[in-house]
Amino acid sequence: MEQRRVRVRFAPSPTGPLHMGGVRTALYNYLFAKKHGGDFLLRIEDTDRSRYVSGAEQYIVDALAWCQMGIDEGASVGGENGPYRQSERKPMYKQYADQLIESGYAYYAFDTPEELNEMRERMKSAGVASPQYNAVTRSGMKNSLTLPAEEVQKRLNANEKHVIRIKMPRNEDVKFEDVIRGWVSVNTNNLDDKVLFKSDGMPTYHLANVVDDYLMNISHVIRGEEWLPSAPLHVLLYQYLGWDTHMPKFAHLPLILRPDGNGKLSKRDGDRLGFPVFPTNWTNPETGEKSSGYRERGYYPEAFNNMLAFLGWNPGTTKELFTMDELIESFSLDRVGRAGAKFDFDKTNWFNQQYLRKQSGEELAPQLKPLLAEVGLVADDSYVANVCELMKERATFVKDILKEGRYFFEAPTSYDEKTIKKKWKESTPEIITELRDLLGSLNSFDPESIGACFKIFLEEKGLGFGAVMPGFRVSVTGLGAGASMNEIAALLGKDEVLKRINIALKTIKK
Ligand code: GLU
Repeated sequence: MEQRRVRVRFAPSPTGPLHMGGVRTALYNYLFAKKHGGDFLLRIEDTDRSRYVSGAEQYIVDALAWCQMGIDEGASVGGENGPYRQSERKPMYKQYADQLIESGYAYYAFDTPEELNEMRERMKSAGVASPQYNAVTRSGMKNSLTLPAEEVQKRLNANEKHVIRIKMPRNEDVKFEDVIRGWVSVNTNNLDDKVLFKSDGMPTYHLANVVDDYLMNISHVIRGEEWLPSAPLHVLLYQYLGWDTHMPKFAHLPLILRPDGNGKLSKRDGDRLGFPVFPTNWTNPETGEKSSGYRERGYYPEAFNNMLAFLGWNPGTTKELFTMDELIESFSLDRVGRAGAKFDFDKTNWFNQQYLRKQSGEELAPQLKPLLAEVGLVADDSYVANVCELMKERATFVKDILKEGRYFFEAPTSYDEKTIKKKWKESTPEIITELRDLLGSLNSFDPESIGACFKIFLEEKGLGFGAVMPGFRVSVTGLGAGASMNEIAALLGKDEVLKRINIALKTIKK
C-alpha cells in the first residue's frame, strides 16, 4: 500500500492563552511531521463563539513562533486547504450533517433547554447518576425519530430552533488502535447522542473536527488524553460519512501532572504554584488579569522545548540535551509513554542553565547589554563578553549575571554586613593595605600573576587564606562570595582594583 503523506494539525480553540500542555501537543505534532518529511498545520477551532477570546489566536501564533515551530499551513501563512479558521469554514459543514440525516445516522432534535432539563431531572429521580440524551431517552424526546414526518417538516419550514444529533447505535463495540495506547474498545451503550450541529448554524467541535481532518487530509491526530473519550464518536463519524479509508491514526498524549503528581497541571495553576504555565506573558483583554510566561522570565525557547519534549517522551538513552534538529531526528511516538508526566520546575531551570552555559561570552554579551542599559550601566562589548564568560557557570538566566556581578560595572556602594561583622578584623585594614601595595607593584595583572602574588603574600606574612581573602573580596566587590577573585581582579584591571581598595579602607567601619 502506498504510504500516506504525513500531515498533522495542531487544532487549538482560541479561548485564552496556550497552556504549556498545548505547546507540548504542538511540539509533538511538529516533531512528528518534520521527522517524516510531512506538513504541520495550524487550525483554529473557533466554533464555540461563546468561549472566544480576542487576542488568543495571535497569542498562539506568536507562541509557536517563539518556540521555533514553523507552520506549513494555517491562517497566518496560507495554504491550499484553507480557510484554517473554522468560523470561516461555516458553510462547509451543513452538507455533512444533512448527509448523516439522509443516511439515517443523525436526526433533528427540537427539545427546548427546559425540556432537556426536565428529562435530566426525571432520570435523576429514577436513580440515573448522569442522565444523557441517548438510545434510551431519545424515544421520549421531541425529535425527528419520535415526531411524525409532516410535523418535523413543518417545524423545519418554520425555522424552529433545532440541533442535529448523532443516532448512537445500541450495544456496538467501537474499536480503534491508538498509536500510544494500543487497542481501545468502547461500547456504544456508554456513549450519548452528541449534538453535531447547533441551532446557531455552527457545527460542534466533533463534526467540524472530523470534517476538517478529512478535507485537510490529516494522516495522524496527535492530541491530549482529554480527547480520548471523544475518539469513538469520531471513528463512527468517519464510518458513517463513508471516509473509513481516510481515517487518520490516533495518538492520545499523556497528561502533564502537577509537580506533586496530584492532578492535571491546569491553566488555573499559572503562577499559583510559583512557576509560569504559559509560554509567554498574557493579559486577559476582558479582565486585565495577567499571567506570566517563560519567555519574559528569561527562558530560552530551546530549553523550554527540550524540557517539554521530555514531558512524556524519552529517547531511550541518557542524553538529555537536544536541539530542535536532534529532537526531530530522535522523536518517535513509540517512545511516548501512557502514564502522566510530572512537571518538574527545577529541571526546567536546569535545562535553561545548560543552554546558557553552552553559549560563549560573545554570544551572551548582546543579551546582557540591554539589561545593563535598563539600569543605566554601559561597558565595552569585549568587557561584557569577558564578564559573561566568567559568570555563566553561576547563572541560570542572563539576568543572573547582572544580579550576581553588578560590581563588574560599578564600584560597590555598600559592603556585605555579615562578612564585615565576621571577617573584617582589627588587623584587616593593615593587611589589605599591604596586599594593595603588592598588587600595585605587579607588571602584568592577569589571573595567574594575581594568584601567585596572593600566595606569596600569605606565605611571607604567615597568614591563612581566611584572614585575607574575605577582606580583599568585600573591598573590591562588596560581597562575601562569588567567582574567583583572581579572575575578577584581572577583569576589573589594576587601577580599578586599587581604587576600590582605597575607597573600602576609608569607608568600612566596624
Ligand atoms: N479544539 C480542540 C482543542 O482545543 C482540538 C482537539 C483535537 O486536536 O482534536 O484542544
